[in-house]
Amino acid sequence: MKSVLVTGASRGIGRAIALRFAAEGYHVAITGLSHKDELYELKNQIEQYGVSCLPYLADAASYPAMQQVVEDVLKQWGHLDILINNAGIAALTLFTDMQPAEYERMISVNLLSVMHSCHLVVPSMVARKSGRIINISSVWGICGASCEAAYSAAKSGVGGFTRALGKELAPSGIAVNAIAFGVIDTDMNRKHLTPEDLDALAEEIPAGRMATTAEAAEAVWQLACNPVYLTGQVIAFDGGYI
Ligand code: NAD
Repeated sequence: MKSVLVTGASRGIGRAIALRFAAEGYHVAITGLSHKDELYELKNQIEQYGVSCLPYLADAASYPAMQQVVEDVLKQWGHLDILINNAGIAALTLFTDMQPAEYERMISVNLLSVMHSCHLVVPSMVARKSGRIINISSVWGICGASCEAAYSAAKSGVGGFTRALGKELAPSGIAVNAIAFGVIDTDMNRKHLTPEDLDALAEEIPAGRMATTAEAAEAVWQLACNPVYLTGQVIAFDGGYI
């Protein structure tokens, strides 16, 4: 039995990733912050692939909340083959216009969440000398973006953490990689940008468009199919954007 945990799966990229792995026969545990209906609707869709699904409402930035999730998944399924740290938030604002509590939350949800779930899942992977971790990052973590300083800092941290943990876990046969997405067509962008802004953004991308969530999920799936010798990498998936 193959199993995967996807954080922040109630919509967007995480949802597409959860469905992609279900289509490959994986049992899928999913988390979301507050969209209970969307999470349970996704559970129904996942189960149509003949696999089981464990849905959890849990703040990925909360260690105790994620501890409950991981303990329950390990109790029910015995192990996790793959952890996908996808939960994330963005904000488009001047750094000095952010309150400390706002940028602390940005770091918590985008970076500490990744560290928490790795801290909770890695011991069980080390015990089996097998596992894969894929962290969802952003090209802004590589090159930085104006008005996204806290987000860029968090995603840059995800990159550093991924490279280091990849080295730490390679002797245990566990691969740790990140995908740095460019612009994917999800609510995250629609929330902050007007349709005109989105068109202008698409023109800046050499590929001429945003990627779909299905394409993003396919990239994550393909990364998971690589030999574990591919580890500690941050791979940009951005249509040539940066
Ligand atoms: P989205 O806003 O459409 O969905 C985000 C998901 O994360 C939702 O399911 C939400 O419930 C969940 N989430 C948010 N905060 C959470 C928390 N504290 N605990 C648990 N779940 C939480 O976003 P998306 O575009 O699908 O982004 C997914 C990931 O991809 C994020 O890490 C984001 O930074 C990254 N990313 C997105 C883009 C893009 O263009 N959309 C580009 C680069 C990177």
